[in-house]
Amino acid sequence: MRQETQDRELGMHQKISRRDFLNGVSFAVGSSLLVTNPMWLEAFGVPQSPFAPEKDPAYYPPAKTGMRGSHDGSWEVAHAMRDGQEWPESTADAESYDLIVVGAGISGLAAAYFYRKAAGNNARILLLDNHDDFGGHAKRNEFQAGNRLLLGYGGTQSIEAPANYSKEAIGLLNELGIDVQRFYKYYDQKLFPSMNLKSATFFDKETFGQDLLWPYVIVGYDETYSGGKTLPPEVLAQMPIAEAARKDILRIQTESVDYFPDLDGAETNAKLVKTSYKDFLLQYPKVHPDVVKVFQTSTHDLYCVGIDAVSASACRSMGYPGFKGVKRGPRRHPAGEEGSGEEEPYIFHFPDGNASIARLLVRSLIPGSAPGHTMEDIVTAKMDYARLDDPGNPTRIRLNSTAVAATHVGDPSTAKEVEVTYLTAGKSRKARASNCLLACYNCVVPYLCPEMSQKQKEALAYAVKQPLVYANVQVRNWTAFQKLGVSYVYSPGSYFCSTTLDFPVSLGEYKFPSSPDEPCILHLVRTPCSPGLPAKEQFKAGRYELFTTPFETFERKIRDQLGRMLAVGGFDPARDIQAITVNRWPHGYAYEYNSLFEPQERPASERPCVLGRKPFGRITIANSDSDGHAYTNTAIDQAYRAVQEVVALREGLAKSA
Ligand SMILES: Cc1cc2nc3c(=O)[nH]c(=O)nc-3n(C[C@H](O)[C@H](O)[C@H](O)COP(=O)(O)OP(=O)(O)OC[C@H]3O[C@@H](n4cnc5c(N)ncnc54)[C@H](O)[C@@H]3O)c2cc1C
Repeated sequence: MRQETQDRELGMHQKISRRDFLNGVSFAVGSSLLVTNPMWLEAFGVPQSPFAPEKDPAYYPPAKTGMRGSHDGSWEVAHAMRDGQEWPESTADAESYDLIVVGAGISGLAAAYFYRKAAGNNARILLLDNHDDFGGHAKRNEFQAGNRLLLGYGGTQSIEAPANYSKEAIGLLNELGIDVQRFYKYYDQKLFPSMNLKSATFFDKETFGQDLLWPYVIVGYDETYSGGKTLPPEVLAQMPIAEAARKDILRIQTESVDYFPDLDGAETNAKLVKTSYKDFLLQYPKVHPDVVKVFQTSTHDLYCVGIDAVSASACRSMGYPGFKGVKRGPRRHPAGEEGSGEEEPYIFHFPDGNASIARLLVRSLIPGSAPGHTMEDIVTAKMDYARLDDPGNPTRIRLNSTAVAATHVGDPSTAKEVEVTYLTAGKSRKARASNCLLACYNCVVPYLCPEMSQKQKEALAYAVKQPLVYANVQVRNWTAFQKLGVSYVYSPGSYFCSTTLDFPVSLGEYKFPSSPDEPCILHLVRTPCSPGLPAKEQFKAGRYELFTTPFETFERKIRDQLGRMLAVGGFDPARDIQAITVNRWPHGYAYEYNSLFEPQERPASERPCVLGRKPFGRITIANSDSDGHAYTNTAIDQAYRAVQEVVALREGLAKSA
């Protein structure tokens, strides 16, 4: 079919919620033009705002649609810094601070919170962030369906397993007013089962020879089937894969074979941590390659790579088939230790994800920035961005500001101040503080701190983040899902590996659209992988892909995939899609050590993240990167640790004075 005809059918180029195009790059029109980085705007001949864009009463980044996540205007300065760009002479800020925090994600915001607690309410804190919104990955996406507000999460999705949170992390949530037990009431765990909605698999014709929505999943999420259970042959027979592959799926689900008879439990474990699940399937149960095609992208959500780069050991612990007869070694987490806690349901979810945690932190740090005082009222509270950088408040958040240097004023071992140079509104500025806490991506730190030792720089540069995309699509209604009996679709061959109805959460004044006739948000995930390469190489290639893919490509893929997947349910992308927000995260999940590519014998204290996060003079380092785990509790724990280092340094100085 010709492109124009296809585009017309998909509804491309028709007006959807407050979005427009400029040379293939999308951004919101109207007053929100002012919010994009002026340097970028200048390149397009757009006049710059004479004042900080956040002071514009119409400044409200959560309501922007189109390309979000690491939006245009947020990354160019950091990339120029990486490429050796020099900046014009900086203008010094009039104010100085006790602490400058670089990065206003959950880690940076939590660090400001912990520091204020330790140093007192009058502690002067400046937070800098390169994005037009605070929260980092914890990004809020708002949509408007008529008079109705719909919320989506642009990144950090849920509070996962809060029972495993440290006392500092859960303590912080509690102090912010979050009682995780209330999610048992707010998350309607019965809604989808009561409507008989289940998980399904979409086989696309390019990969599997035909478009087919198969109402089951082999791996991954399903209320009715997970890992251990076996699908009957007549159900497997509907899968559009080779007959031999169907038999192999049944075989690995049912047979109990020890593929490593000569190894004991510990040796078997050692083998599985060094063998990818793909290699395991092909070399031991010797499955047909079509089985790999079905399983390939099932690990994308969690690992940002497919089963070619995830260990068999990790897949076994997630309940993947093939291990019934395979011996187990000693447990990695003896009872009572972290990780052995009771399984909690995946329900600890605010409608905007952990952006609500970021918003609660900001409301606490900056009085007047949002109304209310509960975990319920923050969900619909409108933030006042004009208050974030208020000279009258001891804590200030300066958005659209990229740090390009953090250097000691004098010798790092004796200096009394750190100077941070940053670019904002196209101008170079500098501010001084007694201490600096870098809660930004750890791979940026070597560029900010040229004085640092080569060893520490290399350790920090090791933290290559994992790229992924969270797209939110506002649809007119979700009757197609009801008709098809699905709430989640796994798509092993498609551009987006999964599509799900938004989580059914209602809290405070926010009500989940629980009737299929109501408008709703669909959530799609893409991880750009290059199967076969080592994980880090895949992340590098994926990051490049994300930075070079225009919004229009994402939009076309979304319309095409949803149209084909839900066609039998009557979904029409041209009619039913009302708005699209693509959150691209070229620097997404913190790099997590992957047993396939990391030395196993390395002691924890020698992990690059531990070596990299050591305090350097008056500079301390946080972010989830600094513990190599892509989680909110890690971001908070690392903030706490970095603040303790600041406090220890200050107390040490006080004693020696
Ligand atoms: C799509 C996605 C989904 C996720 N889902 C979950 C989940 O469900 N549960 C969970 O626990 N975790 C999840 N995570 C992990 C998430 O990364 C952490 O939970 C947490 O939000 C990370 O916070 P952070 O402050 O460490 O880092 P970030 O959120 O990355 O914040 C760092 C900030 O520093 C800024 N920065 C970088 N360089 C500079 C500079 N030079 N100058 C100024 N600012 C700079 C960055 O742009 C960013 O805003 C998810 C992550 C992603 C990407």
